[in-house]
Amino acid sequence: MESGRPGVKFGTEMGALGFYDGRTFGAGRLSEGREVEFFRAKVLGGTATVSLGCALSPPGGRPRGMGFDLGGNLSEARRDMKVVTTPEEFIGPRSSLIRRAGEELGYEFRPMPKSVKFDRCTGCGNCVLGCVEGAKWTPVRYLAEAARAGARIMTGYSVTRVASKSGEVTSVAARGPTGGINIPASVVVLAAGALETPVILQNSGVDAGGSLSGDLFVNCYGMIDGRGMGDEMGMTTLMDGMLDRGFLLSPILDTPLDMFLYFPTLKKLRSLRRSKMIGLMVKTSDDVVGGVTRDGRIRKTITRNDERRLREGEKIARAVLEAAGCNPGSIMTGRVRAAHPACTAPVGEVVDREQETEISGLFVGDASAFPAAPGIPPIVTIVAMSKRLGRILTDDRLNPS
Ligand SMILES: Cc1cc2nc3c(=O)[nH]c(=O)nc-3n(C[C@H](O)[C@H](O)[C@H](O)COP(=O)(O)OP(=O)(O)OC[C@H]3O[C@@H](n4cnc5c(N)ncnc54)[C@H](O)[C@@H]3O)c2cc1C
Repeated sequence: MESGRPGVKFGTEMGALGFYDGRTFGAGRLSEGREVEFFRAKVLGGTATVSLGCALSPPGGRPRGMGFDLGGNLSEARRDMKVVTTPEEFIGPRSSLIRRAGEELGYEFRPMPKSVKFDRCTGCGNCVLGCVEGAKWTPVRYLAEAARAGARIMTGYSVTRVASKSGEVTSVAARGPTGGINIPASVVVLAAGALETPVILQNSGVDAGGSLSGDLFVNCYGMIDGRGMGDEMGMTTLMDGMLDRGFLLSPILDTPLDMFLYFPTLKKLRSLRRSKMIGLMVKTSDDVVGGVTRDGRIRKTITRNDERRLREGEKIARAVLEAAGCNPGSIMTGRVRAAHPACTAPVGEVVDREQETEISGLFVGDASAFPAAPGIPPIVTIVAMSKRLGRILTDDRLNPS
């Protein structure tokens, strides 16, 4: 399991640059042609470690495009993750202002379901740097459970390929602190994330990485006078009334370094005046186009439909920010980014309904297996799909009758 560079330190921007899989001047990776910036963390527990704790379930219990629903696995996932509705007192002044403005315009902003222990949360607003209070649920809890049950957790290793013979898995190859290793195995579940799993699959002889989604998003920011707002937790409310039109809105303010890095020169100074800023994220379910090459390059273009969804959402975001008191001239929109990479080894194409590849014993257990862009924060769905896969494996493969 890759665990980021040594000395991972949560809660600071410089520390986060060490485990976000970004480039020298930015926390994200750019697609070829620089159209979209993708975010993920290479750290024990995965990208959920830097999530905002938003814990939505797919409408109707079925991920978009999936031919089966997740049944009781979803409620079990929510129970494990201790999902609660954000308490009113954690909806900060910025988010409340946006909520009131939205409601004046007829858009309902409901409190966001979160996998956060609010009695531990200080509302510092730094969820995306890794929670220092231990308030946010992360998959590290499952790793601890696995270790207690006898699993050996090996950090600092990067899986390169899965070997097979006569169509059946035989071993996993990885590079680590002590050089290359080979681990004999008859069942392997790849869960390296949708930007890495397809690379391992292709290097193992499976045709993957021919598609990609990311839930493309933009953040819109505007300046308000004389309010002097402090930092607050992001995405505490949600306007999901437009989900069937392909987008949702939620209040957000990026970290100072992130804002400084992603706005062009003329807007940099404005972006640093965060105490006078309010912001809204427009998150869309994008078209499944592009892919990831065998050497890890990201191909992603913004289609006409993607553009339409982003602009429709942005129009509403700008109207809400204006209604909240922002000077229209101050409202600016950042670059197109993606934080939910998915669909690079989709069910029905690269894996079957049981998430198994054409190589017997080789499974995919992460967002790569989504057939369509999730369109909502996907962690609850990924956990529920993993539970379903776990049941398939323990019932059928590991304990055959
Ligand atoms: C800033 C941010 C905020 C977010 N907020 C939310 C939110 O509030 N709610 C929500 O639902 N979603 C959120 N997301 C999205 C969510 O975190 C991801 O979509 C989800 O965690 C992806 O899960 P995954 O299992 O597919 O991959 P990942 O979580 O990325 O896991 C992949 C793991 O594999 C490891 N790995 C990678 N390559 C290798 C290799 N070659 N060998 C061995 N190990 C490897 C990585 O280190 C990592 O531990 C957010 C994302 C970001 C970037």
